[in-house]
Amino acid sequence: MEEKDRKILEKEARMKDRFRRKSSYTSVRYLRRMKELSGAPEEMMPFFDILDKVYTKMESPDIPKDIPMVGTYCVMAPQELIYAAGAQPVKLCSGSYTAFSVGDDIVPRDACPLVKAVEGFQNIGTMPLYRDCKLMVVPITCDCKKKIAGMLSGKQKVAALHVPVNKEDEDIEQYVEELYLFMGELEDLTGKRISYDSLAGAIRMTGQAAYELSRFLSLKKKMPYLLRGTHSMAMMNAAAYMNAGEWADQISEVNGILERRVRSKEPFTKRPLPRVMITGSPIIFPNIKIPLLIEEMGGVVAADETCMGERGMSDPVVPTDESFDGLIRALAVRAVRPCSCPTFADNKQRIYRIRQMIRDYQIEGIVYHVLRGCLVYDFEYKQIEEDIGKLGIPIIRLETDYNEEDIEQLRIRIEAFIEMIKLQKGPAQHRV
Ligand code: SF4
Ligand code: SF4
Repeated sequence: MEEKDRKILEKEARMKDRFRRKSSYTSVRYLRRMKELSGAPEEMMPFFDILDKVYTKMESPDIPKDIPMVGTYCVMAPQELIYAAGAQPVKLCSGSYTAFSVGDDIVPRDACPLVKAVEGFQNIGTMPLYRDCKLMVVPITCDCKKKIAGMLSGKQKVAALHVPVNKEDEDIEQYVEELYLFMGELEDLTGKRISYDSLAGAIRMTGQAAYELSRFLSLKKKMPYLLRGTHSMAMMNAAAYMNAGEWADQISEVNGILERRVRSKEPFTKRPLPRVMITGSPIIFPNIKIPLLIEEMGGVVAADETCMGERGMSDPVVPTDESFDGLIRALAVRAVRPCSCPTFADNKQRIYRIRQMIRDYQIEGIVYHVLRGCLVYDFEYKQIEEDIGKLGIPIIRLETDYNEEDIEQLRIRIEAFIEMIKLQKGPAQHRV
């Protein structure tokens, strides 16, 4: 090897090493802050461990070598089809500050940080997860997702799913067609046919996860509080890298502990902390500065309407017709109809969902999270602000990027918001 080439390789290796150290350091700090918040039961540790494995140790999840991993970039890619084809889905939307800083130099300035982080990981090549996936599934829900699909296709096998803009019957039909095409791509990848039995089995498995999640959510609604929202977000984020069955079993363990806390009257605190809901652009580990600040400043994240949280997993697949086509239709309906992502042209459904959550979780304030450059969520802010304003619930819009430059400013604004809720606090009877 020539001296010049050797120097280039050495420089690259040093760069990767620096990237790994910086990235691990961020992850360690955020995991530590999450663990330092009171109330996390021991049964939550496997969720922290998986985040630690992927983001601190930068290793792929433990998946048997003969099971190919399929990377997905949105909850609208039905994981049941991936399981039914004998593969393992992993969600690759990222919240990495270090990957963002690499991607920031590559993609346009006004692109959202999520797309910059994805490009950063692809470019630097230190996260094996991105390299180990045999197929990348990108539902085209916004311009940034469209560009992610384009960027990835130069390097990896990509399946782009065209998500309809409306939710009428003809739109569902269009998505059914997309899912059949996707099914063919999965079968080509794994060499296994997706049968009625394998798909029904996968639907049963994710149904079990949705059932355990619904048990968890009813426990989370209880007053006084049984668990912090930041801890709940760690559990939801960990689902991205776990098998749905294992995730359901682990959530079931946490549910058991929370039920015990109810029986023994042992909430994590008896103080009436201001109950805040987070909605808006996805909050993805390690970019959890906002929920952490809310809870460190004396509030509690009582509800999470983002798609990386409870919204992404709580709707079960409900087949109405016992045929293979019936199962595929049920997947298309579940992906499109209940989804309150602003990718849909008419998204009144999101307002209904937010109102329902305000009532169910007795919400006293809303944090609207906007990732810089995420136009679809920013677009809906005004409408939601107006609607929620009628209920007398305070709402704050927090625009952030994947870095810590705005931490102090966020801290001041969140602290003031929590204090305002405390001042307004009366009997939690809101007109919903
Ligand atoms: S915000 Fe919308 S497009 Fe983005 S991952 Fe969530 S559901 Fe998908
Ligand atoms: S929905 Fe927002 S955060 Fe997600 S890829 Fe699109 S612009 Fe980025």
